[in-house]
Amino acid sequence: MGKKWGLYHVGGRSQPVSCVYCGRMTPKVKAVPVMKGPRINLRNIPGIDRRRVFLPQQKEYACISCAKHRRLI
Ligand SMILES: [Zn+2]
Repeated sequence: MGKKWGLYHVGGRSQPVSCVYCGRMTPKVKAVPVMKGPRINLRNIPGIDRRRVFLPQQKEYACISCAKHRRLI
């Protein structure tokens, strides 16, 4: 009695994701997506067409508190 299990409904479609900043597990519906681009600067590479280069963007997630702290939201 008195145990409050199931505050978050685990299962279903919201899988937990880990925050990139603090590593805390956050439900995906509450996480804030952070797009991380590559760190290379294509302008430094001569003879490259930037429109034809696919830059893979890494999608990371941050928890609410980290996102607020870093002004992402
Ligand atoms: Zn966090």
